Amino acid sequence: MKPTPDPAPGRVPSQKSFIAPAEILARFPAEQHRVFMRRAIANARRAGVLDKSGGAFGAVVVDSSGTVLADGWNQVIARNDPTWHGEMHAIREACRHVGSPKLEGCVLYTSAAPCPMCFSAAYWTHLDAVISASTVEDAKQHGNFDDSFIYAQLAADPAKRPIAEIHEFLRDEAIEVWREYAARSDAVEY
Ligand SMILES: [Zn+2]
Repeated sequence: MKPTPDPAPGRVPSQKSFIAPAEILARFPAEQHRVFMRRAIANARRAGVLDKSGGAFGAVVVDSSGTVLADGWNQVIARNDPTWHGEMHAIREACRHVGSPKLEGCVLYTSAAPCPMCFSAAYWTHLDAVISASTVEDAKQHGNFDDSFIYAQLAADPAKRPIAEIHEFLRDEAIEVWREYAARSDAVEY
């Protein structure tokens, strides 16, 4: 496939244009938003109560026309995959559906506020918005799931994090790959 030139070279997820929550909510009648969120919550029930595939977390990705592109539910236990969160599953399937790693124009509905991994995935894929039902505190209080400690690590001094970090080990050799990558005529921005 012939690569298309990036219309905004150097554009990164942090430079995505902001869409106000009121504008997101005005896309559809409130009842339609509730239908999408109830579907995400049903996916959470499937994961945690019915299939018992993982934690009780579910999600859906909806495009700007109100079409559900993908469902996602937690399958961390069933798949032995700690990254198989409901949001990751929904994003992965939606990207496959549209044939792109970007989901601009789409909204992620999730039964619980996303963990840092899924929060990051929302940025990587350029979602317009994330709408969540329960909070990080709810997940800890009612489900014994604790995302807050990871958020705390992000703010912590790297030298004091519980997972040791060793930096700049063979840095030059790694950077050499970037030079080779940048020399590609078809290099793309992610
Ligand atoms: Zn997650």
